[in-house]
Amino acid sequence: MTWKQNGIRHDTKNNRVRLSKGANHKEHPRAWEYILVEYETRPGVEVENLQQVRAVYDQAKERWELHLVCKDEIETPDAPGNETAGIDLGISNFAAVAYSTEDADLYPGNRLKQDGYYFPKEIAKCDDSGGDRATRLHHKWSERRTHFFHSLAKHIVERCVEKGVGRINVGDLAGVRENENGESKNWGKHGNLDLHGWAFDGFTSILEYKAKVAGIEVVEVSERDTSKTCCVCGKEDDSQRVERGLYVCEECDAAFNADVNGAENIRLDINDESNSESAPSLGGDRSTGWLAQPGVYLHDLSRGFQPRTEVVDCKP
Ligand SMILES: [Zn+2]
Repeated sequence: MTWKQNGIRHDTKNNRVRLSKGANHKEHPRAWEYILVEYETRPGVEVENLQQVRAVYDQAKERWELHLVCKDEIETPDAPGNETAGIDLGISNFAAVAYSTEDADLYPGNRLKQDGYYFPKEIAKCDDSGGDRATRLHHKWSERRTHFFHSLAKHIVERCVEKGVGRINVGDLAGVRENENGESKNWGKHGNLDLHGWAFDGFTSILEYKAKVAGIEVVEVSERDTSKTCCVCGKEDDSQRVERGLYVCEECDAAFNADVNGAENIRLDINDESNSESAPSLGGDRSTGWLAQPGVYLHDLSRGFQPRTEVVDCKP
């Protein structure tokens, strides 16, 4: 149930909201009947520009909650710089990010995957009489996913600010959901990860918001051929091999991380014809080592994203 502005009286001095009852809930349709709500906020938090009030039932906590929706206008800061970053979203790595500074970050999405195995198994164990438990598990799973998306978006935006990025290119979601023939990608093998199109949609809108607050624009660009084109020489070939996460280019005689290759192509926006300057050209003299060795970030519940460090066994 949602109250719009004309059903809400907000008393900001006394921290009260008066909600009018719908005509069908009143003795007489024109009677003055209200629900009076008093709220408390954390110190330093003020409720203003109230737009909507929503009554939401929290299954896990078994109680009704009122959500106050406020409009908060923020001033968008200047962009941290003029560089462009590219993000490739996918299954084996949730996100790969390529920067113009010739380095790349990889987010395998370890926690999403662990949850993707754990929760369905636990939910399957619930019998019919345990329906509540199944509901709670679904709820917890989705909360954890949302939390992951928020921390991932935050981490990527922080990296972009460090690197003077003013624009983030993200592969358009049609490419994530469908292959070149317009068929949906085969989710069968990874279906239990529950990483369908809506998960990418959800992540992209969180990223857009967090980037905007930092003055960075997020642009969806075409993902067509970004996984089968070599980002160094521009060779596009169906026979280019992608094996165990490696993109192998015969022209360059090199192997790159396949998702970083995709992210770099998205960064360069290879499908934008007007943008020939940045398109990869044959015989480029760019260094390629970074394409094979991205920084890998794993998510840890207490510490957030941490670079994966090689464990060196130093026995005497
Ligand atoms: Zn190549």
